[in-house]
Amino acid sequence: PGRKVLIVYAHQEPKSLNGSLKNIAVEELSKQSCSVTVSDLYSMEFEPRATRNDIVGCLHNSEQFNYGAESWEAYRKGCLTTDIVEEQKKVQEADLVIFQFPLYWFSMPAIMKGWMDRVLTQGFAHNFPDCFDAGLLKNKLALLSFTTGGNEEMYSKGGISGDIHYVLWPMQHGMLHFCGFKVLAPQICFSPEYETEEKRKEMLTTWAQRLKTIWEEKPINCTPEWYFR
Ligand code: FAD
Ligand code: ZN
Repeated sequence: PGRKVLIVYAHQEPKSLNGSLKNIAVEELSKQSCSVTVSDLYSMEFEPRATRNDIVGCLHNSEQFNYGAESWEAYRKGCLTTDIVEEQKKVQEADLVIFQFPLYWFSMPAIMKGWMDRVLTQGFAHNFPDCFDAGLLKNKLALLSFTTGGNEEMYSKGGISGDIHYVLWPMQHGMLHFCGFKVLAPQICFSPEYETEEKRKEMLTTWAQRLKTIWEEKPINCTPEWYFR
């Protein structure tokens, strides 16, 4: 109640299962009187490239461009481009950030990876040694909600794709936990395209059901051992 949720959503088609998962989350969380913001990356035509255009005005070193150094400096001086600043405001206000996407090449779609590259700026999201448990977004929760092409058996330890935990490692630990987020268990819908309509409906109701008690959930113990054991 009164809590704020940001949904970062990456799918081109509103009628997709990802679109439905996003809609049902908005609906359920709004019912709880949470305030919900959606960053619909494709419809925003979100810029995924980390370039010098992200820094407004003079560069610290225009002789040799260093994105990390320049964006850190620009964050401190308030010289980041407005689309980044807007996303950072949404993150700053959120208690929970949900990432809704289809798995692309064992990872998130490029447009969402670009959101990570550009929005989670040094100084805003992390600032060594302020990383992992000391990361600057440490009072926030994050949750990956995604769909796959491969089925659950393929993503098991003996399966051809390997344990799904290996896929989660770079995203949950390398990106989210690095920035301080407490990571809630992922919501994974395996191979919706190859499932029946009934199974897909079930995936949606399971997600809606989980969201009813989401604020009572304990984060995972996001350490190397959680992923590789
Ligand atoms: P959709 O096809 O949009 O949805 C599935 C079905 O659900 C559709 O028929 C839709 O009409 C239906 N649906 C929508 N809403 C509802 C509703 N409310 N009730 C019931 N049915 C509904 N997969 C992997 O496993 N690993 C990879 O590395 C990988 N890499 C990829 C890379 C690329 C570039 C691409 C394009 C795909 C890749 N995939 C991979 C596959 C991808 O992850 C799946 O295609 C995707 O996750 C399916 O989700 P979707 O939302 O796009 O499905
Ligand atoms: Zn971790």
